[in-house]
Amino acid sequence: MAKYRIIFDRDACIGAYACVAVAPDTWKEGDDGKAVLVKDVFDEEELEKQLDAARACPVNAIKIINLETGEEIK
Ligand code: SF4
Repeated sequence: MAKYRIIFDRDACIGAYACVAVAPDTWKEGDDGKAVLVKDVFDEEELEKQLDAARACPVNAIKIINLETGEEIK
């Protein structure tokens, strides 16, 4: 089963927390007003949810790469 990794540009994050709303097991609200990534590697079965969270980010701070191919899919 393919594995994926989330790459988070925390400097870009504006704390809109769309990511937290879509994937609350992966993203948390941070004390400093920015998101905290609590789990960066996930399996294929979570791909659609994680892509939804990444696409929901208004400042494009979330990227997802396929760990086997190195391909950036979002
Ligand atoms: S959706 Fe983007 S800007 Fe909003 S908290 Fe998540 S990473 Fe930060």
